[in-house]
Amino acid sequence: MNETWKTIILGSGPAGLTAGIYSARSNLKPLLFAGNNPGGQLTITTLVENYPGFKDGIMGPQLMQDMIEQTKNSGVEIIYEDIIKIDFSKRPYVLESISDTFRAETIIISTGASTKWLGIDSEQKFMGKGVSGCATCDGPFFKDKVVSVIGGGDSAMEEALYLARLAKKVYLIHRRDEFRASQIMQKRVMENSKIEIIYNSEVIEIKGDNIVKSIDIKNNKQNTVSSLLLDGVFIAIGHTPNTQIFKDYIDTDENGYIKVKDFVKTNIDGIFASGDVSDPKYRQAITSAGTGCIAAIEAMHFTENNPL
Ligand code: NAP
Repeated sequence: MNETWKTIILGSGPAGLTAGIYSARSNLKPLLFAGNNPGGQLTITTLVENYPGFKDGIMGPQLMQDMIEQTKNSGVEIIYEDIIKIDFSKRPYVLESISDTFRAETIIISTGASTKWLGIDSEQKFMGKGVSGCATCDGPFFKDKVVSVIGGGDSAMEEALYLARLAKKVYLIHRRDEFRASQIMQKRVMENSKIEIIYNSEVIEIKGDNIVKSIDIKNNKQNTVSSLLLDGVFIAIGHTPNTQIFKDYIDTDENGYIKVKDFVKTNIDGIFASGDVSDPKYRQAITSAGTGCIAAIEAMHFTENNPL
């Protein structure tokens, strides 16, 4: 495409979509790359009870579908592809998808974060054969079966509670003896009779034939190894920011999160970051939407003050 867009937004979670809505309303006529799985992490959650405006909560996939519709209605052009190559060495900045090349005066990076895996060989071997990163996607396969959830944050609590509705038993395995999850989620887990918590333990091997049959866990306090017979292993140990393709140009911290000042400004003028891609701390839908809004306002000021 020969056209130079005023702003191109990368990502279609709450940050990218909010950036889209605000930049369209500021007449930036934005183009948004939604990727192949539009909607981001909330599309694989269940009930969202902490996004204001929904007094009884709203299902994550529904919330994202509605946000995408609202974004389209605001006049944002959406392409359902990923950006695979970039050149941020000078303005206009250049981005390539699988099908075309695009130029933009400003960029808003809202590419979010992806599921983190344990990194043991057997995890890859049994992926889709009992190992999963998404209880809401794969939970129904484990009706009346025995499963485990690995992790100690809110994601792990949420996955365990969801699975407890379907499975016969849920082992919640955490590497320490205290959770980092919010108190309310911890309480719900502890009160659920189907969930058994195993502290100070790490999964060292996943075993089976075609499908998962058991796991070996190591108690890191007693240095002992034991086996658990089960059918499914759900990994919920956090996320890795999707910043790989930006690394030659954009400054990131030691974990790959984009470094920002004034909430959204990266080290390159006119390139902004919003949402989980630059937020290792809060990582909420509402904070992502908030920084998406700020990024759009900053992009508007930048194009006004720095015409090409
Ligand atoms: P998180 O808070 O970073 O928790 C990750 C958990 O996985 C930690 O308990 C961590 O253990 C454990 N872990 C990390 N690497 C591990 C490894 N290699 N082996 C074993 N365990 C490992 O991530 P999250 O639970 O995905 O939550 C991310 C953010 O989203 C949080 O701000 C959370 O509040 C939010 N969230 C909110 C909700 C909700 O409000 N309903 C739902 C989901 C997520 P350590 O504790 O020992 O580090």
